[in-house]
Amino acid sequence: MSEIHGIELESVSPGARRCIERAKTEGERTAAFRKVARSRRFDSIAVHGIYGMEEALQNQGAVMEPIYASTSQHFASSDEVEAAECFLAPAVPAWVYTRIANPTTYYLESTLGLLEGYDFDGEVSACVTSSGMSAIHMATSPFLDVRPSAHMNIVASAKCYGGTFMLFSLRYAAERGVDVRWIRDPLDLTSWEAAIDKETRFLYVETPSNPGVAIADISSLAGIAHGSGLPLIVDSTVATPALQRPLTLGADIVVHSVTKCLGASGTAIAGALISRLGISSRVGTEEMRDDFALYVKVLPARDQGPALSPMAAFTVLNDVRTLRARIDQMSRTALAVAQFLDGHPSVDRVWYPGLPSHPGHRLAARQMRLVDAEPRDGTPERFSFLMGFEVKGGPAAARRVYDGLSMIYRATDLGRVKSIATIPAIATHQRLGDTGRELAEVPANLIRLSVGCEHPADIIEDLDRALALAAKA
Ligand SMILES: *Cc1c(COP(=O)(O)O)cnc(C)c1O
Repeated sequence: MSEIHGIELESVSPGARRCIERAKTEGERTAAFRKVARSRRFDSIAVHGIYGMEEALQNQGAVMEPIYASTSQHFASSDEVEAAECFLAPAVPAWVYTRIANPTTYYLESTLGLLEGYDFDGEVSACVTSSGMSAIHMATSPFLDVRPSAHMNIVASAKCYGGTFMLFSLRYAAERGVDVRWIRDPLDLTSWEAAIDKETRFLYVETPSNPGVAIADISSLAGIAHGSGLPLIVDSTVATPALQRPLTLGADIVVHSVTKCLGASGTAIAGALISRLGISSRVGTEEMRDDFALYVKVLPARDQGPALSPMAAFTVLNDVRTLRARIDQMSRTALAVAQFLDGHPSVDRVWYPGLPSHPGHRLAARQMRLVDAEPRDGTPERFSFLMGFEVKGGPAAARRVYDGLSMIYRATDLGRVKSIATIPAIATHQRLGDTGRELAEVPANLIRLSVGCEHPADIIEDLDRALALAAKA
């Protein structure tokens, strides 16, 4: 038997064996309710997740999921302790210890799995982590097992989050000797194909990317990856499952900075990885390929320890309930703001996939659509909340505009209910250096704008006032 599914039943005490049998019945009930939850529509899944009336009655009738602020679980007997250690699967009520599992983080984990797996005809599993970066680390490092004879490589879009760029180029390339093959234009499929060889471990892409809002074709990249027996890993943070579900387009693993639009109130750092069953991979054990997210949760995450706190899980869970309505509003506002900026005399160029001038516009319109859109929602394409604009007059003018903002916050963040702006060249992408910034395409006069839930007219007014300062030397 595998390590995930516990040790051989014959080797445990008869009492523990009886506990395991009881837990199996409980597990069947949980699985049956998960099926009910999964059959609901997107908004209902976001609101309720896998927490239902029956479980509420076991929790003093609490309508909202309780925060289990306890590091560990008490057991009724030594038999139960022994049984719980046998099946470290994240099933409530055998969660044991919060680094391994916790009921509140499990509510979030299951909800995100159901949302990311919405419309997907296979099963999915999820693992939440302490940050987006830890999710990206946990989603990629299992593929980098060192083999004495091989010089392994990974193929990744250079249009990615600054932290991901550092993880790959410093932690993986400089420290571990992984050959990172950066793709400059993720839309150029031949450059992906050309970069793959027999030592490639995975393909990695972020769409839309932060801060460049580059769009990549997930299904074509999945086809290329699978043609070589490789997994495609997609960072879908900016789209969220309300607009794009990469697993339905063929991706193997999806990663999220849950910190961002999923946790839009901005009170917690969190991450998640969600995988389909049976991923493509040339390396790793069978149990890793069978159920990647569960494997990560039960083994590498147990050993490396990037557990999410139950408090953070709860605050995020509350934000996730309104995800679809929020991303709809933010996307509509962002389009209006992008159109305003596009016509402004102090703006050189606007980067937003919702504008027809964006090279990925048509692909984005196909790939990012409001989930469960009805006639009252209008056309279903949505382009999310993130954009960039280059200020006429260079970096100094960009800083004047930035310093002139009076409602839009100057902060390194995005996906918030509050609008936030950053100059990536001096913030997220400062440490990449000139060559790194050139590779990631981050010009010094670029302002990245994350549009929030304010009234569009107020956001536009703030930008208009600040842009008037651009020309003033
Ligand atoms: C913020 C971000 C990350 C990193 O997430 P943290 O929660 O800050 O660790 C990864 N990818 C994208 C696209 C991001 O915006």
